Amino acid sequence: MGFKDKVLSSSNQFNYYKDNYEKLLNENKQLKQKQNQLIEENEQLIKEFELNKQIIINKENLSTESNYCPYCGRISNFEPYGVVKREKAMCPYCKSLERHRLIYLFFERNYSSIFKNKDIKLLHFAPERIFYNYFTQFDHVDYYPVDIDPETYAKRGLKLKMKVNMEEVPYGDEEFDFIYNSHVLEHVPNDFKAMGELYRVLKQDGVCITVVPLSGNEETLEKEEYNTPELREKHYGNKDHLRFYGLDVKQRLESVGFKVKVSKLEDLNLTEKEIELFNVKESLIFVCTK
Ligand SMILES: [Zn+2]
Repeated sequence: MGFKDKVLSSSNQFNYYKDNYEKLLNENKQLKQKQNQLIEENEQLIKEFELNKQIIINKENLSTESNYCPYCGRISNFEPYGVVKREKAMCPYCKSLERHRLIYLFFERNYSSIFKNKDIKLLHFAPERIFYNYFTQFDHVDYYPVDIDPETYAKRGLKLKMKVNMEEVPYGDEEFDFIYNSHVLEHVPNDFKAMGELYRVLKQDGVCITVVPLSGNEETLEKEEYNTPELREKHYGNKDHLRFYGLDVKQRLESVGFKVKVSKLEDLNLTEKEIELFNVKESLIFVCTK
């Protein structure tokens, strides 16, 4: 083969590989499109499934005594629970309470596709067993269950990541995609500092879900003279609570920089029958973003 032929042959080879490379790139692009399409179809199917499940529940011939737990999917008679007993409060199987079932439905409606499909880092304060189990089931969730007293959790078989005081969170700025804290802030001495820490460790496009017991009043009740367990029990409804939040907890969260949306029971669009079956009660969910 002469020099000219050699050049020609290697140039042909180059063109051959180039064409193949472009063909593969194209195929790859098409596969990615197909994958996105399948993810969308999957989300759609999940939605339809949930809808159908609820239609079936509505139609099922349940006695008026029965409840249905949306978390564990079992039919039973919920049991009374609480210091002041609340009728039909707890699912006897998974031990979920009214607010757990509400927050579970809220998560399922709004975030389940993120938990299932995106790699996220999730910080969970004072983890309730139900949500500890819920979050650990997702392969894509890098889960950080924490509390100021991890030993108590260890005794109950829940392994926490580390001891964390919400007023001084030992993580870097903007580390977490998702933060969840329910019934924690009312136990924290300096709640403004704690809220500031939640803001600090949340990513720019992250979301922090906060739930606190609410008095129903506009203003938070918090007085220095209520400094004994008895007085706290009397005024705040619990000897371990340091205040009784009013609706102004939204302004407190905003004061550290959060944008706050309030999600209500009605936002779940449940039928009256479902509300009765699930026994979910209004509990405001503060959706905090940056
Ligand atoms: Zn249950």
